[in-house]
Amino acid sequence: MGKTVLDLKNFNVTYVNKHQRVYAVKNASFKINKGDSLGLVGESGSGKSTLAMALLRLLPLKTTEISGAANFIGKDLVKLSEKELRKIRWKELSAVFQKSMNSFSPVHKIGTQVEDIYRVHEPGAKKKEIFEKFSYLLELVKLSDRVYSSYPHELSGGMLQRVSIAVSLINDPELLVMDEATTALDVVTQGEILDEVVKMEKELDMTRIMITHDMSVVATSCNKVAVIYAGEIMEVGLVKDVLKNPLHPYTKGLLNSFPSLKGENKELQGISGFLPDLSQKYEGCIFSSRCDHVMDICKNKKPKQLKEEGRLLNCHLYGGGN
Ligand code: ATP
Ligand code: SF4
Repeated sequence: MGKTVLDLKNFNVTYVNKHQRVYAVKNASFKINKGDSLGLVGESGSGKSTLAMALLRLLPLKTTEISGAANFIGKDLVKLSEKELRKIRWKELSAVFQKSMNSFSPVHKIGTQVEDIYRVHEPGAKKKEIFEKFSYLLELVKLSDRVYSSYPHELSGGMLQRVSIAVSLINDPELLVMDEATTALDVVTQGEILDEVVKMEKELDMTRIMITHDMSVVATSCNKVAVIYAGEIMEVGLVKDVLKNPLHPYTKGLLNSFPSLKGENKELQGISGFLPDLSQKYEGCIFSSRCDHVMDICKNKKPKQLKEEGRLLNCHLYGGGN
């Protein structure tokens, strides 16, 4: 097992405004080790992007409260000053989003923009050094180094998203967060990019969080999975275990809502009901209103996270109703 890159402990994110508080991430706890690729999966509105944005501290201070601990290679991201954060954000901790391809300026060549980005952390870097480094990354995402002297409008959406991935790696990050980074692309391009990311990761010994609502993305590009529901982590484990034998009722429901990952015909069942109102606090299990296995205890006692069969689980069905 590699060293721990990220250790989340009781991590909370709350959006606050004059009228309400929205408890978007609650008590999230899990670890990511070097070389891991962890898929963070859950239905829309479950808090995936909030968790990523909060880790990068990209949420506005005025309207967000973050608490708990997020130890990232020895530094607590929750406590770092803005000045300390600037030293690591986009360098040790990098990210690529669904809309990253739209963030290039249309009036400058890609190479000029890459040089500006690289020099934020390496002010003295020479053009040649940056070109050589970026050409290597372009090759990893299967693009020619001609891209360097292209304007964004000369590239397709898929190519620009590949460029965004290459840019996110320019400073050799310890941890890369990919937030629905391939979702907007067609299935073939998405598949190609995911294959490249997995190969690249081995070559660069990278660690990744993959935010997605799509289990097939987790199955093809991750070794670990964390399942999140209404801001709470439900199950964490190895992809090969969780996808084959999900233990948490929500994970089972989520997997039943997707076509079989092995291509077998099966009836899609979905999960009846809706996400709860996140501006309310819930005494018991947050999934209780939709769970087929709900018991009396579930309605008034929140399950504690425990280890079972090599996973982390938050459910009273395990651990004897902890
Ligand atoms: P999706 O897959 O649709 O992107 P998600 O799992 O990434 O969803 P988030 O976007 O993190 O979920 O949203 C989590 C919850 O926080 C949702 O209930 C959302 O409505 C709420 N939320 C997001 N941004 C804000 C905000 N700025 N103010 C208040 N509530 C917010
Ligand atoms: Fe279902 Fe109870 Fe487990 Fe929640 S704690 S998932 S309600 S069985």
